[in-house]
Amino acid sequence: MLTGIKAAIIGGDARQLEVIRKLTELDARLYLVGFDQLDHGFTGATKMDLDELPISELDALILPVSGSGPNGEVETIFSNKKIQFTEEFLKKTKKDCTVFSGISNPYLTGCTNGAGRKHIKLFERDDVAIYNAIPTVEGTIMMVIQNTDFTIHQSNIAVLGFGRVGFTVARTFANLGANVSVGARRSEHIARITEMGFRPFYLSNLENEVDAVDVCINTIPAPIITSNVISKIPSHTLIIDLASKPGGTDFRFAEKRGIKAMLAPGLPGIVAPKTAGKIIANVLTQLLMEERNMGKG
Ligand code: NAP
Repeated sequence: MLTGIKAAIIGGDARQLEVIRKLTELDARLYLVGFDQLDHGFTGATKMDLDELPISELDALILPVSGSGPNGEVETIFSNKKIQFTEEFLKKTKKDCTVFSGISNPYLTGCTNGAGRKHIKLFERDDVAIYNAIPTVEGTIMMVIQNTDFTIHQSNIAVLGFGRVGFTVARTFANLGANVSVGARRSEHIARITEMGFRPFYLSNLENEVDAVDVCINTIPAPIITSNVISKIPSHTLIIDLASKPGGTDFRFAEKRGIKAMLAPGLPGIVAPKTAGKIIANVLTQLLMEERNMGKG
């Protein structure tokens, strides 16, 4: 149970509803900022504005998956009121108050470092990234179906990157009957790709690997699908770029060549907000319990 824990949930999207549900079920005391348009009420959770928070009593500040915008603005889909996150605000919390977000940016990291508060970025954790790969791949399948006039079965699909998302993308599309090739840069990845029955290639050779590709799915957050690569891609090829913004594709050049290329951020929150929210809620619960136990020890 989380009895005695006080946490503020500041902004977010439908995924935070699962977080609120789970934490209130476990008896945490929650303060919801940026939820004034949310009709649903939760026992143990009170809606308020940022300046009304009992700030010095909070054990945790839970920000949206995105953390904040580049200048500290916190997004919420449940309110029209602006929420501004600042270092000054954070400094008013107790020293052992922990900040949680999915990812971070220089502004947010500057605030948490400046205020000397612990900041846990949930999406940097392997467990969260692996669980999150499941709805990400389901969303990718949806996008491929919506944007092609051929079946996934028997189509040539190139997956770029063999990390937590790339691995699941490759396996799932192969299970749907696609001919999957996977590009990686590490020899141990090439070995694993081979072992799993996919066609491996080194990314350094990408330009020579795309001439028969029907769908190219990128998971590498670096410029990888360059104009050189795009110039070798057939005109019917669909590029789905899953990597975090700005993606790894030269979108301008793809458009110039008439190749459909799409950046597809935040798929878990779009196709399965409930599941995506549960993934966050489960790990948050575990972490809050650990933090409390450490405090007691
Ligand atoms: P990951 O486990 O770190 O995997 C990243 C892969 O990219 C690894 O294979 C890595 O290779 C490779 N890579 C990184 N930089 C490279 C470079 N400069 N050149 C060649 N290869 C490079 O990350 P992940 O969890 O799979 O996530 C992948 C991306 O998808 C991230 O940007 C993440 O934010 C994003 N994402 C998007 C969604 C969505 O809905 N669109 C959902 C979840 C995640 P090495 O192992 O050799 O370094």
